[in-house]
Amino acid sequence: MILFNLKCAKDHQFEGWFRDGDAFDAQAAAKKINCPICGSRRITKALMAPRIGKHGAKEAKQTEIQAAVLRELKELRKKVESNCDYVGDKFAEEARRIHYGEVDPRGIYGEASDEEASALTEEGVEFAQIPWLPRQDS
Ligand SMILES: [Zn+2]
Repeated sequence: MILFNLKCAKDHQFEGWFRDGDAFDAQAAAKKINCPICGSRRITKALMAPRIGKHGAKEAKQTEIQAAVLRELKELRKKVESNCDYVGDKFAEEARRIHYGEVDPRGIYGEASDEEASALTEEGVEFAQIPWLPRQDS
């Protein structure tokens, strides 16, 4: 069992025990959890590491955190892929053209070598490096 810190749409915080993270997701999606203070059914996990009710807490917590990070990376990747143009290995070139106003600003993503990335940083071109996951449709 995992104890999650939860909060409702109005920011009331409370706690709830769940079999695992998936059990919470399923119950929240089915609107089976409601806020004890205002009754709201829009419940999300508050940003706190979950506590584990049994031994092996440390390992379980690490697994949970890793899973959460992976989920967020997947979400981020989805967001980037649906909002940005893929420019492949032309990333550095395109980022520069946008930075210097040669083309209209737009979101792009692609690959850049370490040297390209540090050259961009030196030129003051803004970009973010994301640890990209190998594509796997689980
Ligand atoms: Zn509430």
